[in-house]
Amino acid sequence: MALLEVLKFPDPRLRKMSKPVDNVTEELVQFSKDMLETMYDFKGIGLAAPQVARLDRLIVIDTRRKGDDDRYNLDDMTELEKSVEQPLVVFNPVITFKEGKTTYDEGCLSIPSYYETVERFQLIELEGLNQKGEKIKFKTDGLLSICIQHEIDHLDGKLFIDRLSIIKSGRIKKQIKKHGYPERNTEDEEAVESEV
Ligand code: ZN
Repeated sequence: MALLEVLKFPDPRLRKMSKPVDNVTEELVQFSKDMLETMYDFKGIGLAAPQVARLDRLIVIDTRRKGDDDRYNLDDMTELEKSVEQPLVVFNPVITFKEGKTTYDEGCLSIPSYYETVERFQLIELEGLNQKGEKIKFKTDGLLSICIQHEIDHLDGKLFIDRLSIIKSGRIKKQIKKHGYPERNTEDEEAVESEV
């Protein structure tokens, strides 16, 4: 297992299109495990391969929330979200159905300390391959649906700040390019809780 470096905006590698995975190799499975380890280390709930400088269509997600006692608290999850086994690792994820609208204050490990409200589809159906290379297909909503849409955007070189108004998006991008990011504060877990 290894911790990977997470690229930050405006790194140009975050803007590239990722390629479909032909074969779910042992090496790719190991890489997905490193991605999960990296995501947990940053207290993130999702990570896409291009965020760790690899242009393969691969996302890892775990939206289960932990309570104060460090045990999983599933009360805030929807029934559909609970029905999907997590952590979730998907190669070549494709949304085959989408319905409704929802909003959430999104963050991103590649844009640390910034949170903005983004509109997404409420319910989605996802198809892809699991770590065994088997086809998977499920419907989900809640935070898991939002997170999946956010991660697939990464595979297409898109960031959540691109989905804001032009004025807001421009202001944030300019601010980051000028001032960079605040130092990572590992004590402040609350602030990075929902970065994906
Ligand atoms: Zn992200």
